[in-house]
Amino acid sequence: MSMHREQSCPECGETTGFTRVASTNVNLGRKIKWRCDDCGFTTVQIGDVIDTATA
Ligand SMILES: [Zn+2]
Repeated sequence: MSMHREQSCPECGETTGFTRVASTNVNLGRKIKWRCDDCGFTTVQIGDVIDTATA
């Protein structure tokens, strides 16, 4: 899996580069934390769902 991806950042208000900072396995699937390269905002992805409200 890539360590870097492009996604929408609610803090920057645009699509920016995110770097993977953590990855753990939970019962819903793989949980991955991403951090915005520009502002440091973090998002949590569980499976294919990205939750921007939880860090
Ligand atoms: Zn950002």
